[in-house]
Amino acid sequence: MTFDLEDWFHILDIPDSTRIDRWKSFASRAEIGLRIFLELLDHRKVTCTFFILGWMAERHPGLVRLAAESGHEIACHGYAHQLIYNQRRDLFREDLRKSKQVLENISGMPIAGYRGPGFSITPDNLWAFDDIAESGFTYDATIFSGNHGHGGIPGIPSKPFKLKTLSGLELEEYPIASVYFGKAKTAFSGGGYFRLFPRRFIAMCIERQNRQDIPVVSYFHPRDFDPNVPRMKMSFKRLFKSYVNVGKTVGKLDFVLSRYRFMSISAWRREVFQQPQEVTIIDFASTGRGNATSP
Ligand SMILES: [Zn+2]
Repeated sequence: MTFDLEDWFHILDIPDSTRIDRWKSFASRAEIGLRIFLELLDHRKVTCTFFILGWMAERHPGLVRLAAESGHEIACHGYAHQLIYNQRRDLFREDLRKSKQVLENISGMPIAGYRGPGFSITPDNLWAFDDIAESGFTYDATIFSGNHGHGGIPGIPSKPFKLKTLSGLELEEYPIASVYFGKAKTAFSGGGYFRLFPRRFIAMCIERQNRQDIPVVSYFHPRDFDPNVPRMKMSFKRLFKSYVNVGKTVGKLDFVLSRYRFMSISAWRREVFQQPQEVTIIDFASTGRGNATSP
């Protein structure tokens, strides 16, 4: 179970959300969705990994403490919520360093996990894994194993695996759950996809994954649980995806949690991933994929 702690104005790739200097003019609503979600987790006794935006943590340290004191894992969603492939590499490194430090200072704990905004690691910016590993993270959870609006790496496993970065460093990877829908892969376990799909379809996808011994990595945001979340200006298609069924997420997720067992990534790593087993290793260091486009 994972949750990206950011605000309603952090929807990617629209003019009002891209510029960090404009964010302070918006009133925060993250606590509303966060508290609804925390209550649900508490009710179902589920632990969760909270990937928290450094910018949010600096302004609302109480939200970081609230999640940590409820027994959940604190992880890092970067600082400024910029698509990784749109960033200069030195600025990406600085974003990683700054956000990790902010979160470690507030939580008083080492931060092991990172998730970039919008699944924005692609075959063209695999160098990002080097920077994530060099920044001291043990695992990443950015990958979508198919084509996605803001990124994705088609052909990569959708089951947790270990990877060797281009320069040979090691990192664990926890891809977002995905299933084939015809020839294309689609997400179903979080955000707009979870809100859009009927609960029976989501249950079917979870069972299909579990039958193949694949755990389902979910991803939610405060706005997924806030029925009165303000609408930002965007195309009709994105409006639909960003806000469809926001009033129904709680009931649907409660249904899912009543049937399937979820836990934080740190709990998963302790319970399953670090036990002796066959783990796929993806070795970017030998294949060298992505080198040519490293900025
Ligand atoms: Zn995000």
